[in-house]
Amino acid sequence: MTGPLVSIRSLSVSYRRDTASFSLRNVDLDIAPGERLAIIGESGSGKSTLALAIAGLLPPTATVDGAILWSGQPQLSRGGRDIGFVFQDASASLDPVMAVGRQIAEVARTHLDLSWAQARDRALDLLRRVRLPDPDTALHAYPHQLSGGQRQRVAIATAIAAGPRLLIADEATSALDTIVQADIVALIRQLVAEDAMALLFVSHDIALAAELADRIAVFHGGEMVELGTADAVIQKPRHAYTRKLLDAHIGLDATPMIIATERGHV
Ligand code: ADP
Ligand code: MG
Repeated sequence: MTGPLVSIRSLSVSYRRDTASFSLRNVDLDIAPGERLAIIGESGSGKSTLALAIAGLLPPTATVDGAILWSGQPQLSRGGRDIGFVFQDASASLDPVMAVGRQIAEVARTHLDLSWAQARDRALDLLRRVRLPDPDTALHAYPHQLSGGQRQRVAIATAIAAGPRLLIADEATSALDTIVQADIVALIRQLVAEDAMALLFVSHDIALAAELADRIAVFHGGEMVELGTADAVIQKPRHAYTRKLLDAHIGLDATPMIIATERGHV
């Protein structure tokens, strides 16, 4: 029997010690190996703070209380090897002056014991897996030569280059238009299944979360106000705030169908 991959215990985060304002308050949450968990809530609800805390990427100005356990062990930072992180804006993770193949290969070399030739092969394979058109050419491309959607595919390839056990996608599709967004969500779903990774999918979009996640955690004002299976949260929301998020998505049931229809015409 295996325990949780990540256990979050009484986690509170504030960015300034001299005020009583918490960005995250008393959060308890487990992520099982291979589980797809969505974190939803409006802007400022603490979603990114939680994601960064799990990855050990909070800025030094953050004060953290509570514990985050990785496979039952205390952890300070698991970035890179065990956790892949995809940000909303690919330029936050991509170096503008380095060819993308090299960037992916560097991550693979840093965390895996690979030669340059092996790392380059891995980069090429990853560019294929994230379905970049013409991966051989893309290997030598610079980020500015790619479209926004292609850059996000490269960012995903970089995030999974070291074979992490958890992929965190923080609003990773929010800056993209609807059709590209649907493709990237499908890609994330496929990669997570193929590599048996757990997924933390952070979004303000409850419809996207419902499409991708096994469980949904709803955040509001730094607190987790609801946690349940995606079906339960969508069908029988228990918290008034969750119902508000659902009401904001009047076409929730129709959304995946509309996306499918639009894509059918592309
Ligand atoms: P979300 O990702 O849900 O939009 P965040 O976790 O980014 O929410 O922010 C939660 C709260 O913490 C907000 O009030 C935000 O202003 C504050 N906050 C986030 N990051 C910082 C930071 N680096 N310094 C100070 N305050 C921050
Ligand atoms: Mg955020």
